[in-house]
Amino acid sequence: MGAWREPLPDGRAVELRATSRADGDLFVDGPADALIARRRAVVDRPWVWLRQVHGDRVVVVGPDDPATVAGAEADAAVTTRADVALAVHGADCGILGLWSPEGVVGVAHAGWKGLVAGVIPAAAAAMRSLGASRVSAVAGPCIGPECYEFGADDLASVEAVLGPEVRGTTSWGTPGLDLPAALAAACATADVALVAPASPCTACEVDLHWSHRARADTGRQAMVVWLEPGGAR
Ligand SMILES: [Zn+2]
Repeated sequence: MGAWREPLPDGRAVELRATSRADGDLFVDGPADALIARRRAVVDRPWVWLRQVHGDRVVVVGPDDPATVAGAEADAAVTTRADVALAVHGADCGILGLWSPEGVVGVAHAGWKGLVAGVIPAAAAAMRSLGASRVSAVAGPCIGPECYEFGADDLASVEAVLGPEVRGTTSWGTPGLDLPAALAAACATADVALVAPASPCTACEVDLHWSHRARADTGRQAMVVWLEPGGAR
């Protein structure tokens, strides 16, 4: 499990986790008992998760019961609440955790369609509307260009939004999408500081990660973000 702890100026901290196979399958429609136990092992508080649809909709988790927000159709969630954990899931797509010095936190699920739709700028804008000044991000594992063969038309549509650095080559020599580069470009466009780029590759790392494309895995890893109060830990 990838783990980051980002201290905030007010003494609190942002905790970010990129889970791996060792943490268990966190697919949102998996068996409830196992899912609850696995979530609890990452962080024991209500999880706000999403029905991810590869779009740019952002859920702002406000004062309502988080149970009423969980499962919303969206690809990003943001909040200032300290009593919930935000989560997105993937098995090749980009999964980002975001925060600001003011304690605005967020998550974003960003495959190529979400990147083209603008999910990262949308998440950053939602965070700024909650008071975020500087927005930073870490990326969980995603598929690498050497494993991600991509059609010419789709590649052109990603390039049109994010620039030529998204073009990659598969290990077998065909055009590929460089999703880590696309995530970095989207963060740059949105003025988000990507301090930990995506670490490929979900397809190559058979023992560590699930891959939808390489193995038709149904399991999902997660990016989980939450706020911790100041003091000992
Ligand atoms: Zn790979």
